[in-house]
Amino acid sequence: MSGSAEGRVAELVERLLTEHDPRTTPEREFWGAQFDLGLAWVEFPEGKGGLGLDPGLQDIVDQRLIDEDAPLNLLHNMLGVGMAAPTLIAFGTEEQQRRLLRPLFTCDEIWCQMFSEPGAGSDVASLATRAERDGDEWIVNGQKVWTTMAHRARWGLLLARTDPEVPKHQGLSYFYIDMQQPGVDVRPLRQITGEAEFNEIFFTDARIPDRQRIGPVGEGWNVAIATLMNERVILGRVGKLSGQEGGVIRHALRVWNELPSDGRDAVRRDELLRLWVESEVVRLTTQRSEAVRAAGTPGPEGTLGRLMANEHQQRVFAFIVNLLGAGGMLISGYELRRPDRIGDVALIADDAIDYQKGFLSTRGATIGGGTSEVSRNIIGERVLGLPKEPAADRDVPWSEVPRS
Ligand SMILES: Cc1cc2nc3c(=O)[nH]c(=O)nc-3n(C[C@H](O)[C@H](O)[C@H](O)COP(=O)(O)OP(=O)(O)OC[C@H]3O[C@@H](n4cnc5c(N)ncnc54)[C@H](O)[C@@H]3O)c2cc1C
Repeated sequence: MSGSAEGRVAELVERLLTEHDPRTTPEREFWGAQFDLGLAWVEFPEGKGGLGLDPGLQDIVDQRLIDEDAPLNLLHNMLGVGMAAPTLIAFGTEEQQRRLLRPLFTCDEIWCQMFSEPGAGSDVASLATRAERDGDEWIVNGQKVWTTMAHRARWGLLLARTDPEVPKHQGLSYFYIDMQQPGVDVRPLRQITGEAEFNEIFFTDARIPDRQRIGPVGEGWNVAIATLMNERVILGRVGKLSGQEGGVIRHALRVWNELPSDGRDAVRRDELLRLWVESEVVRLTTQRSEAVRAAGTPGPEGTLGRLMANEHQQRVFAFIVNLLGAGGMLISGYELRRPDRIGDVALIADDAIDYQKGFLSTRGATIGGGTSEVSRNIIGERVLGLPKEPAADRDVPWSEVPRS
């Protein structure tokens, strides 16, 4: 990381803040200016929201914007900013990058990501949604599930099967699809807290122009891996940007300090201290995996910090609802809402929090973006170099693999 690059980024952030006062500039205008100055993703090429610099320098931008209480787009368009954009930079065409990146960053166009299906979650490569070629277009039929923010999305990243006669990983292609066209039916899926952040999607003869394919036909799996590696990184960045850098342990400390003195017994104090130590280990592990990420493309190391952070969150919220006694069983409301942004179900940026909803919503943290068991497999195989799990269907054409 060179001093002059740091200086250049710092200077550009000051220019952004001076020319576009975050207190008075409309959000989308502010994000547009941030993009135009190359401060959207500093590692991207110039003219495409970046400056062609070390990705670690993005921290300078993020921290300064947090300090100034500037609007942050990540929670409004996390799948776009955190996953679609790096995928487009790595695999998209020049035309796709020029057309899509700016409206994505300004949140004029929200994105969702459609990998999971009723019969394909952890083993997403076995998915069944078909895309069949019809001249310059593809016709899509099938079903996706758990699609976060699809109800707000203009575009969806789509992994679909284009060749069922080859082994599962080889017959996939990757597209982006217009979510507002006929043939795409988005239905809410209500979660344990009452809200519906995610959806199920039914495709009936939906159409995608071939120019909306990302990467070569049959190589969708490689593109999907890049998206998923970025997902693991972005979930960590969300915590940082939404003011949760102190970690969820601060909520436990607050509840603890508000307890009557006879509620603060030695056994509970012991548990609180154990969780506090754990939160420090999570913080340092996340820092370590961020340092690896800052040195280049995100790899499997990000999985480590994310796995620890998610399991830690669950333990902290379980501790909090226990401290609250019978009150811990009461939820503040159960209305069906379809939120405009991710993460406002319980973890509210201004630090006001519904602990019971926090407890419930963190149940999903060890499932979404890959379950804890699958994360442990990734760490075992790709970080520690342990032997791979046996896979009987790896070399068999997808059409010949039995499925329910
Ligand atoms: C809050 C939330 C948001 C989500 N958002 C999206 C989204 O926007 N887009 C999207 O495409 N998907 C999304 N998902 C879906 C998510 O990616 C899947 O739920 C996840 O990959 C697990 O798949 P599954 O639910 O089908 O479980 P399964 O794969 O059926 O797993 C069931 C159980 O078996 C275990 N298991 C499976 N395989 C193995 C193995 N090889 N070794 C050991 N144990 C194993 C799992 O750990 C789990 O405990 C979201 C999920 C959640 C909870």
